[in-house]
Amino acid sequence: MTDTPKALSRQQQWRKRNPKSYLAHLAVCAALRHGVLERQPCAVCRDPKTEAHHPDYERPYEVVWLCRKHHKALHAAQKKGAA
Ligand SMILES: [Zn+2]
Ligand SMILES: [Zn+2]
Repeated sequence: MTDTPKALSRQQQWRKRNPKSYLAHLAVCAALRHGVLERQPCAVCRDPKTEAHHPDYERPYEVVWLCRKHHKALHAAQKKGAA
């Protein structure tokens, strides 16, 4: 894929497609900043570098902490299951 300056970035495209997950993500960032939420190690492998996964985007503060690898794996599994 070639990136032109005019095209929306991947991140912007993702935001447009997933407004709820984007808002949930913002809520987590704010909660982390304010000390409401604390980043946890990966629930699977205890890797300290984690991303917040939302089982339910309607509940932005209910997150599962997963490293990039296990986060991707979970979404891949969900996609398969949902299809
Ligand atoms: Zn992991
Ligand atoms: Zn996720």
